[in-house]
Amino acid sequence: MEMNVTRRQFLKLSGAVAATLAVVELGFNENEAKAKANSFKIAGLKPTPTICPYCAVGCGILVYSKDNTVVYTEGDPDHPINEGALCSKGTTVRQVYTSDRRQEKPMYRAAGSSKWEEVEWDWALDKVAQKMKETRDRTFQTMENGVTVNKTEAIACMGGAALDNEETYLLSKLMRAGMGLTYIEHQARI
Ligand code: SF4
Repeated sequence: MEMNVTRRQFLKLSGAVAATLAVVELGFNENEAKAKANSFKIAGLKPTPTICPYCAVGCGILVYSKDNTVVYTEGDPDHPINEGALCSKGTTVRQVYTSDRRQEKPMYRAAGSSKWEEVEWDWALDKVAQKMKETRDRTFQTMENGVTVNKTEAIACMGGAALDNEETYLLSKLMRAGMGLTYIEHQARI
């Protein structure tokens, strides 16, 4: 008996056969199928563990790269805090690197100017150091109400969630003992 099959029916039938073969090959195991799909997505990429820079939760992220370029990011399943999960901000973290609006050089706006200009890192760091020294020397207090204080209240220091334990320790030491700051604040409160 002759059977008439339209082009549309033929394509549908081919798709169904291909899907059935794929399921058979994977042994009807949905988890295995998902794992295989994931391994294709990251095949040939180099994973580097890091911490999400956005908030104080400090979720672990795996950054997958190839040829020095970030290709894909996902929650680190071995990280004790998030166990692979990420919020919507963390999920899009690769845009910190890939966005065409990413600022790669420091910007400087001179006092009284309305224009920002791109400057070199060495110039910017020297400028920050000069300003901090000048402000500290001008505002340093050695005594207050008969008590030795050795402090300045003219500068504040703000840490961020991207800093790790050691960096935060060094920053705190530098600002407290080295500079005499009393206004030291930090965003991360893990
Ligand atoms: S993934 Fe979300 S919750 Fe986790 S650290 Fe980043 S911003 Fe915070």
